[in-house]
Amino acid sequence: MNTTLIEELEAAIRAIPDYPKPGIVFRDITTLLQHPRAFRRAVDALVHPYIGIGLASVAGIEARGFILGGAIAHQLTAGFVPVRKKGKLPGETVQIAYSLEYGVDEMEMHRDSIEPGQKVLLVDDLIATGGTAEAAVKLLKELGADVVAACFVIDLPDLGGRKKIEALGVPVRTLIEFEGD
Ligand code: AMP
Repeated sequence: MNTTLIEELEAAIRAIPDYPKPGIVFRDITTLLQHPRAFRRAVDALVHPYIGIGLASVAGIEARGFILGGAIAHQLTAGFVPVRKKGKLPGETVQIAYSLEYGVDEMEMHRDSIEPGQKVLLVDDLIATGGTAEAAVKLLKELGADVVAACFVIDLPDLGGRKKIEALGVPVRTLIEFEGD
């Protein structure tokens, strides 16, 4: 039987209630990553619209965005640039503070990781409130990037993240939606 991508993702993504705090349903993609076919299909689906558009780099958000972003960059023959939590990058950085679904944090990128005008695709595993991706888009724009899109495996549409990113003029692409938070 042929399973659709959505069916395969639904089966491969694990839901962990009350993690990291009561009321949050954590959508765990480690079970997707350990499933060869589901991982391959998710990456292929994310890559597809961006083949041949001259992407210079894929920017991945720490930490699960590194795994997906690395695979996507490889397949697109693009570079990979990390968007990291504060204090992890050794070179000169640009920084921004942002709020999470469950907390507040600061992220940074190397100042020389993007050249002005370069086409960049932003990648993470999941968009919830959009606060993390919004901060990453702002950092990328500060570096002069042309952010062609932001893509995620999972959207939690009830939390409104997609609209926040689209309001910055960046198209959003996701593979599967889950209700609630
Ligand atoms: P947000 O900034 O609210 O869009 O949150 C997105 C970031 O937090 C991503 O890096 C996700 O990996 C993580 N995240 C937020 N909510 C969840 C959730 N319910 N399950 C798994 N990861 C989450």
